Amino acid sequence: MRDPTLRLASLEPASAGASAGGRRSAGAVGAAIQRQTGAVSTSCFPASLVNVLDRMRVHFGAPVIVTSGYRSPSANRRAGGARDSYHMRCQAADVQITGVAPSAIMRFARAQAEVGGVGAYRHTRSVHIDVGGRKFSWFGRGGHSHSRVRLAMR
Ligand SMILES: [Zn+2]
Repeated sequence: MRDPTLRLASLEPASAGASAGGRRSAGAVGAAIQRQTGAVSTSCFPASLVNVLDRMRVHFGAPVIVTSGYRSPSANRRAGGARDSYHMRCQAADVQITGVAPSAIMRFARAQAEVGGVGAYRHTRSVHIDVGGRKFSWFGRGGHSHSRVRLAMR
């Protein structure tokens, strides 16, 4: 499966994939950042977001699992994302780290200069992180559609 999104090969960290024989796509964001499923698209993440996720991995000492990255407009609608969600600009990641509480991930994310929006979903353990430029935090309280969260960050 090929991502329809722009590939930016230069984003690949120098330390990532050097010994992997080039089997990962040019857009792989780094060996330590894992996609939850093959349907999760991370290859277009900007360097600022990749750097935050990589710093997070180092801080917590465990892989960062991306449960949602780039979303096409239709995928964003299915996910209940905001109409102008940063996921559609490939500037947002929903992440989990095994064994780390969402609250701890949020606290760390908020302290990163590149990070704009940070949010928690109540129906999953994923934490939303974006580099969209606006400092903001939110908590989803509703069901799957996050109907009470109308902000652009989802
Ligand atoms: Zn999100």
